[in-house]
Amino acid sequence: MTTMNRRIVLASRPTTAAAEDNFRLETVPLGAPGPGQVLIRHHYLSLDPYMRGRMSERKSYAAPQPLNEVMIGGTAGEVVASQHPGFAVGDKVVSMGGWQEYSIADGAPGPLAPRKVDTRAVPLSAYLGVVGMPGVTAWYGLNVICEPKSGETVAVSAATGAVGSVVGQLAKAKGCRVVGIAGGREKCDYAVKELGFDACIDYKAAPDARALGSLLAAATPNGIDGYFENVGGTVLDAVLVRMNAFGRIAVCGMIAGYDGEPLPLAYPALILTSRLKVQGFIVSEHPKIWPQALAELGAGVASRTLKYRETVANGIASAPGAFLGLLKGRNFGKQIVKLLD
Ligand code: NDP
Repeated sequence: MTTMNRRIVLASRPTTAAAEDNFRLETVPLGAPGPGQVLIRHHYLSLDPYMRGRMSERKSYAAPQPLNEVMIGGTAGEVVASQHPGFAVGDKVVSMGGWQEYSIADGAPGPLAPRKVDTRAVPLSAYLGVVGMPGVTAWYGLNVICEPKSGETVAVSAATGAVGSVVGQLAKAKGCRVVGIAGGREKCDYAVKELGFDACIDYKAAPDARALGSLLAAATPNGIDGYFENVGGTVLDAVLVRMNAFGRIAVCGMIAGYDGEPLPLAYPALILTSRLKVQGFIVSEHPKIWPQALAELGAGVASRTLKYRETVANGIASAPGAFLGLLKGRNFGKQIVKLLD
């Protein structure tokens, strides 16, 4: 086995848009697991928009990622050495191993402990997306905050992404009319033809906010009852106008502002006049719902009723570029980095 580990560290903090030179690839000696620890070889890294927030020192719900340390991130891999009785060599696990080829983790139970996964019916990489944190995010925001009822209209932005694609499919299964908002014709065609959405609006085809509003109005003849927000900005403005009285908005992400751009609301008074519930949430703060959500999502993937798509970058060195692409919408479905089959 190799004695070296390649990893990506945060080299500097972006002041505007994140760039490749904010990251550095390093090769360091591979340690050995101590008592109670396991050594994990990562097969896949998860790239997620929240990582952009950790690169900055702006006020947030979590502390910034320290400079010159391995970039934070979810990983899926295999135990290659174990000093913990609960883990054996060959166990497939998901953990927070970060952007590196190997990690050493404490096996003791806890929120950051590696979790064994069953890859007989669900592929290992899916535990980073549809049957992982993004899938649970969709499940929580939709079921707990949007509370959709059969016959209602649910809209979701970043509709073909890791989170949005699950939101739409779960809402369809509840009998809702589902309208996605995504960037580009290809993504919208996928949302309707493959994921079963009723309609999808290509926001990039709308020259201005008014045009976007017209497209959305045509796709939501009965207004919108539940909105799952991933983007912010003009998309949120257009949706707010279409919200029905007592509608519910799950504020999951505002990726349009992650590089520091202000995202002013054009019509905030609509929150009052439409008596809206607007609620932000962070999925890691709701550990109680994870087992049920993961069980349902896993069953959906195993039975092929829940579809998903991945964009796969290859090799550790590709992680920064793939991450920057995710922030620009170059991913199509869950963005992962493959290190090993
Ligand atoms: P995605 O797989 O959806 O990838 C991000 C997508 O965002 C891109 O593909 C792109 O889609 C869209 N996007 C990027 N930049 C912009 C922009 N400027 N304006 C509009 N759309 C843009 O990512 P995830 O599914 O992993 O995450 C979706 C959202 O959920 C993010 O905002 C993320 O931060 C949030 N999130 C929140 C969590 C929580 O606990 N609150 C947990 C997990 C995720 P397109 O090409 O369609 O524009």
